[in-house]
Amino acid sequence: MRFDLITIFPEFFAGPLDHGIVRRAREAGISEIHVQDLREFTKDRHRTVDDRPFGGGEGMVLKAEPLFEAVEKLLERSVGDSEAKIPPPGNAAIVLMSAAGRLFTQETARRFAKIDRLVLICGRYEGVDERVAEHLATDEISIGDFVLSGGELPAALIVDAVTRLLPGAVGNEASTQNESFQEYARAPGAPDRARSVLLDFPHYTRPAEYRGWKVPEVLVGGNHAEVAKWRRHMAIEKTRRNRPDLLAGVDAR
Ligand code: SAH
Repeated sequence: MRFDLITIFPEFFAGPLDHGIVRRAREAGISEIHVQDLREFTKDRHRTVDDRPFGGGEGMVLKAEPLFEAVEKLLERSVGDSEAKIPPPGNAAIVLMSAAGRLFTQETARRFAKIDRLVLICGRYEGVDERVAEHLATDEISIGDFVLSGGELPAALIVDAVTRLLPGAVGNEASTQNESFQEYARAPGAPDRARSVLLDFPHYTRPAEYRGWKVPEVLVGGNHAEVAKWRRHMAIEKTRRNRPDLLAGVDAR
């Protein structure tokens, strides 16, 4: 999997992507991360990446041209124009980070983990010329219902969530199958739109008693079937408490 991050702050990514699973995946050749300075795709002396908004108003907007040029250079093909639009190759996604995008979920991460190439466009200021969302990006993605000052943190977050799903990236494969947002069978009669996912069950490690708080008895009892039952029950309880919206589609027996 190759990630390309297009940004006006390339130095931002020295750090966040150099630890743990993301670092090991790079070292093992499972993933490649390339950071592209948007200013290198400008043609004027001042390397201008932004301009004032048409129609007036506050702030600056990232220009379409350097972003189109950057993506075309990276994918080594044209995306065309209003007369003849050329779709990107099927194994690549061009993702615009945007507070006004579709919500990023584990399902999105799973979809991205199946393709070979992810180009992530980081916005800044008031955002990005809308023609990028309309005619360049294949996906316009938000990481949550809040506004950040730039797309760099969202992009790093997507690289992390996708990398840990790549085959071989996580030491014990099972550990990305048995965690929060894993898919469950939808409850009979639940509406199709209900997301059938649960949060993770609680984990404990030694000591078995800390400040008088004991680890649940069943976990130290050695009965695997009982442990599995308890974990599912606790996952449902936790989901009910923290994210009742997720439970609509789960068979909660
Ligand atoms: N005017 C925009 C916010 C611009 S914030 C609005 O009201 O929707 C500047 C940049 O930060 C955006 O272009 C985007 O790339 C990034 N950004 C901010 N919040 C984000 C979020 N929740 N998810 C993904 N990207 C976000």
